[in-house]
Amino acid sequence: MKTLKCDILVVGAGPAGSSAARAAARRGLDVLLVERRDTIGVPVQCAEFIPAPLLGEIDVPRDAVVQPVKEMVTILPNGEQKVMRSPGFTIRRDLFDQALARAAETEGARLLASTRAVRMEEGLVVSRSKGEAEEARIAATVIIGADGPNSTVGRWIGSENGNLIPAAQWRVPLLSSMDCTEVYFDEAFYGGYAWLFPVGREANVGLGRKRREAHHETIGRALESFVSRLAQQGKIEPRPVRTMAGWIPAEPVRWITLGKFLLVGDAAGHTHPITGAGVSQAVIGGRMAGKWAARAVETGDTGLLGEYEQEWRELFGEAQQRAHHRRKSLEENWDHLDTAVKTSWIAFRGYYADP
Ligand SMILES: Cc1cc2nc3c(=O)[nH]c(=O)nc-3n(C[C@H](O)[C@H](O)[C@H](O)COP(=O)(O)OP(=O)(O)OC[C@H]3O[C@@H](n4cnc5c(N)ncnc54)[C@H](O)[C@@H]3O)c2cc1C
Repeated sequence: MKTLKCDILVVGAGPAGSSAARAAARRGLDVLLVERRDTIGVPVQCAEFIPAPLLGEIDVPRDAVVQPVKEMVTILPNGEQKVMRSPGFTIRRDLFDQALARAAETEGARLLASTRAVRMEEGLVVSRSKGEAEEARIAATVIIGADGPNSTVGRWIGSENGNLIPAAQWRVPLLSSMDCTEVYFDEAFYGGYAWLFPVGREANVGLGRKRREAHHETIGRALESFVSRLAQQGKIEPRPVRTMAGWIPAEPVRWITLGKFLLVGDAAGHTHPITGAGVSQAVIGGRMAGKWAARAVETGDTGLLGEYEQEWRELFGEAQQRAHHRRKSLEENWDHLDTAVKTSWIAFRGYYADP
């Protein structure tokens, strides 16, 4: 089996991994980025909304931006609506992820697609190309796990996501254009919500919810009912152009570095525990991870990886912890959902109040 050497191995070329690889390669280090998919960003597992400030920070190709969004409308079970300013864009996540990976390559990172991190052996990560099932050992000074919600690297270091929420989504034709996103709370969507996000002439209609004894419907059936409801309101055509499913971490802050390993993005549970949004955290956290991994290599001190955790906590820790507490409270008070949402969802002032 051949051995490849590098300073920094990044597992997963999503927004977190590509941003980490780019930041480290920019400092002149030898970075290898491995991705199990054949094509970066495909299939898309995202509702594709990003907040406006993120777009200002990175070079996203014009064709990856589909449309602007002005507001988010939250709809409660009793029909009450709350409108919040929420400037951002819906994007094509496949093109977005591909642009980030290209940017990492431009800075000098080596990208190996169709390559999966499969096991640890003699302290090294072993990866395998698809098709010919060829294996190679990779000897790296620092290993960044950016391999998403069901992170293999996280499992290796005993830091896995413990609260993954299943989500399902249909892409459907939109009957008239929209410039807001819509979020629906309903007793049937325990611990989660449903959404309607416009993407040009189409929309992403999805649902994330936890399992509950009282649920007799599968998540797929619950989504079908939600799609029918939107169709009856004349918003969409109830015809799936494509469908997808995925997992959303809803984690409290936890330690995510060990020895020469660190986790970032969904692998680290950095997704917002109430909204489920994680692209911004993945990009910003990825940059941080790449920077500290590079410093650790430059100085020969992997102890510096702890600084990555520290910096991340300073920036996101409080917001993440608040969201985690709000999620707990929302779930505990689910049977009084109309009032619980007002203290637990980001569109309401109660969310930001001190406990
Ligand atoms: C239904 C749904 C809707 C969402 N909507 C939004 C939204 O509108 N806005 C938002 O901000 N966030 C949204 N999110 C969350 C967002 O998609 C994630 O937070 C974001 O993708 C995290 O980026 P990441 O790079 O950490 O992980 P990922 O994007 O999951 O990337 C991980 C990469 O690692 C690869 N990989 C995994 N295992 C291995 C392995 N062993 N070896 C090699 N490669 C591997 C995967 O193929 C993947 O490419 C949504 C999530 C879901 C499920």
